[in-house]
Amino acid sequence: MPQGNDVEHSNDPESASTYECLQCGAIVESDAHPNTCECGGQFTNRAKSLE
Ligand SMILES: [Zn+2]
Repeated sequence: MPQGNDVEHSNDPESASTYECLQCGAIVESDAHPNTCECGGQFTNRAKSLE
């Protein structure tokens, strides 16, 4: 009998989010939205469940 599997997120501790620069693709992990990238591009919040 299958159990009702809870879709639990094995997330990292705390709530650091991953941000990706739209311009150069640089990845930055931060718990706050980073400022503009060194290249001048903007960071976008990136979902972490795309592995
Ligand atoms: Zn960049």
